[in-house]
Amino acid sequence: MSRPDAMDTLAPGSTIGMLGAGQLGRMTALAAANLGYRTHVFAPDAEGSPCGQVADAMTVADWTDRHALAAFAGAVDVVTLEWENVPVDTVGFLASLVPVHPGAKVLAVAQDRIQEKSFANALGIATAPWRAASSAGDVAAAVAAIGPRCILKSTRLGYDGKGQAVIGPGTDPAEAWHSIGSEAGIVEGFVDFTCEVSVIVARGVDGRTAAYPVVENRHKNGILDRTLAPARVSSGTAAEAGRVATTLAEALGVVGLLAVEMFVTPDGHVLVNEMAPRPHNSGHWTMDACATSQFEQLVRAVCGLPLGSTELRFEAEMENLIGDDVLRWRQIVAEPNAHLHLYGKAEARPGRKMGHVNRVFPRRS
Ligand code: AMP
Repeated sequence: MSRPDAMDTLAPGSTIGMLGAGQLGRMTALAAANLGYRTHVFAPDAEGSPCGQVADAMTVADWTDRHALAAFAGAVDVVTLEWENVPVDTVGFLASLVPVHPGAKVLAVAQDRIQEKSFANALGIATAPWRAASSAGDVAAAVAAIGPRCILKSTRLGYDGKGQAVIGPGTDPAEAWHSIGSEAGIVEGFVDFTCEVSVIVARGVDGRTAAYPVVENRHKNGILDRTLAPARVSSGTAAEAGRVATTLAEALGVVGLLAVEMFVTPDGHVLVNEMAPRPHNSGHWTMDACATSQFEQLVRAVCGLPLGSTELRFEAEMENLIGDDVLRWRQIVAEPNAHLHLYGKAEARPGRKMGHVNRVFPRRS
């Protein structure tokens, strides 16, 4: 079973290497197991991790430990990742030994907000107006150029609203600059969006793509709270969002998944905010409402299988269970149309993603 039956195709029985040990890796490993694949997780602190609990094997070592990386590469047939901030050098080293999807070039773009926005703009894809900033003076100059309402973000390692400062007419640029605690920043114009949406696109080894329907994302305290599938946007906006995400996936040459987060403007156009070359929280609804889940799709893409259908079978609302929300598990499992997914995390700390619930409803059209 495990002998490749065609160039670029890994047969069931093969082992997928997963960089990162969180819930995205866990759900990918479960989908991989359903198709008969094994998962070997590599992470610096994988003990008791969501992915380690369900993986077939685990390596706990630093991202720079070349000895451990080489042994890992020798034990797997392909490598993918659930965290886009794995050092580019690590991915480059692994790629000299075993296929890695997505590759180092994709990560280099996705790890840095300035590269991300430059990449999109070079393709003619719109973003909020932005300027790079590496000092309080740069922030002041950017605000003067863009307008008084801006957001300052660290260029790297920011997520769920961390490393960000909202700038208004009374804000001291120096205070905003020091608050983000970063050497490299980006100042973005504040977008008065009507809603936030995202599209996840899968791209196979053969270059074929499959986009999931555009979904709407609602945040609470800077963290995704709910995803509504499909998004309540016009068909023109939905088509534009799908086109933008697919153009980016193709231009980056992603093999695997690319999640693209966008703002919808009052005139119905989209502005790209950020992208992630991995499964995405806004795609969790696909587990119970789509013909193929985003996790199975990632497995299909990196193993060289045909991509699955992205057809929506139900309408869905995904609710993240953050911190103590998970204590509602008893009520949730008793709901007839709810699908509960818990990540096996022992401690429900505030702000920690403990699981999610997908509520599905018959399609209206
Ligand atoms: P991010 O870390 O870039 O995803 O930002 C976190 C959240 O902050 C987004 O989901 C938006 O709700 C908000 N946000 C980020 N950038 C902007 C912007 N340029 N204009 C308005 N809101 C923004």
